[in-house]
Amino acid sequence: MRLILLILAIAAIVMIFRHLYRPTRRMPPCADSERMARCATCGVHVPCSMAVHRGDRWYCSQEHAEHDG
Ligand SMILES: [Zn+2]
Repeated sequence: MRLILLILAIAAIVMIFRHLYRPTRRMPPCADSERMARCATCGVHVPCSMAVHRGDRWYCSQEHAEHDG
């Protein structure tokens, strides 16, 4: 019986630690190539696979990426 309690206690501790130290994955808005990115210059939505990434912004084309500075 004590063994079961010990296992449950360890499981609870592991779950709490996992919850506390869950990596806060701040993925870019377009990490998934199936999603749409909004061009920071003109506001057009383009598939992430076609979008141009610069810094933390996305653009519909290389031209707009350079236009935005
Ligand atoms: Zn654009």
